[in-house]
Amino acid sequence: MNRIYLDYAATTPTHPEVVQAMLPYFTDVFGNPSTPYAYGQEARKAVEEARNKVASLINAQSEEIVFTSGGTEADNFAIEGVAYANENAGNHIITTSIEHHAVIETGKFLEKRGFTVTYLPVDKYGLVNPQDVKKAITDKTILISVMHANNEVGTIESISEIGKIAKERGIIFHTDAVQTVGHIPVDVDELGVDLLSISAHKLYGPKGIGALYIKKGTRLAPFIHGGQQERRQRAGTENTPAIVGFGKAAEIAAEEMTDEVKRLTFLRDKFITGLLGQVDDLQLNGHPTKRLPNNINVSIDSAKSELMLLNLEAEGIYASAGSACSSSNPEPSHVLLALGLSPEQARSALRFTLGRGTTENSIEQVLEVLPHIIDKAMVMSELLEGLARRSRCC
Ligand SMILES: *Cc1c(COP(=O)(O)O)cnc(C)c1O
Repeated sequence: MNRIYLDYAATTPTHPEVVQAMLPYFTDVFGNPSTPYAYGQEARKAVEEARNKVASLINAQSEEIVFTSGGTEADNFAIEGVAYANENAGNHIITTSIEHHAVIETGKFLEKRGFTVTYLPVDKYGLVNPQDVKKAITDKTILISVMHANNEVGTIESISEIGKIAKERGIIFHTDAVQTVGHIPVDVDELGVDLLSISAHKLYGPKGIGALYIKKGTRLAPFIHGGQQERRQRAGTENTPAIVGFGKAAEIAAEEMTDEVKRLTFLRDKFITGLLGQVDDLQLNGHPTKRLPNNINVSIDSAKSELMLLNLEAEGIYASAGSACSSSNPEPSHVLLALGLSPEQARSALRFTLGRGTTENSIEQVLEVLPHIIDKAMVMSELLEGLARRSRCC
């Protein structure tokens, strides 16, 4: 059976050219970039070239890029770094109710340590109202963190408008751009951000490497303490092969972005139109147009996500219920609840995220089997409900 992978928001396969670019840095050029002799200096040169490529993808300067172990670390670093560097100025952080767990959990951690965190609501499309950000600002606010695009529903936020508000009030502004960098144009000046998180494995780079963009002049407490790497902000011997791979992935993304946005937008809209035409009781989650080119998220009344996913997998189709979810009785997604869905609707969501390997033919194949899979899941969901009711009453 051929496999159709439609979970590119969870992770992407490493591009073959990226793998090729990385290989010499495991073996021939294995030196520690901090050493002065040739082995080290060749590795240093490769790290700095990769830094240039990542910087250029988001219109930053290379000194403004700090490599991290991924998107999660970049989010933690941004938020804790600002919090601990600005404790004397204030203790209030503004973020949203639809952030990735890497941001939400860091907020909760800081709440236990004397910080106050406002989690702003969103509208039914998942959009944060910039005026709500403005109203939430107090004289204690030290940081605003709003994601660029949501990983579950694909909604793209009005980051540049929020950036203007942050700048007017002199408040540091962070965005988690893990779902956008390499996928749609990202320009740190246009967005008006001071901090921006990136993860390589979401853009066909290797796992375990990412970056935090830190605009010149932004004060952050160092995140990992030790040696002098990464301008003393993030100690530890550089992961040269991964950094080189990240740079290569950034370079390829820049070359292919325009065409890929067009291609994926077409496939996305074909998928959505096809689904809405074939399946009743189906609603699209997220914004109809302010949306990532590769994201489709729908809820199907009275069909449980896990059952649909199991039936899809039996057909060789790999999708998701939203964020990476594995437990047998999953909590409904905090993102879908924030959009105003009932827990039932949130438990009946399906997310398909397209990518480089997605063809028109694969979309057609999925559209062909989906109505049957949904029907089957509805029947099974009803049976399960009945069973649950019976075991409750006896
Ligand atoms: C995947 C993801 C992260 C985490 O990145 P990792 O590199 O996997 O740690 C953070 N934020 C968003 C929006 C993501 O989609």
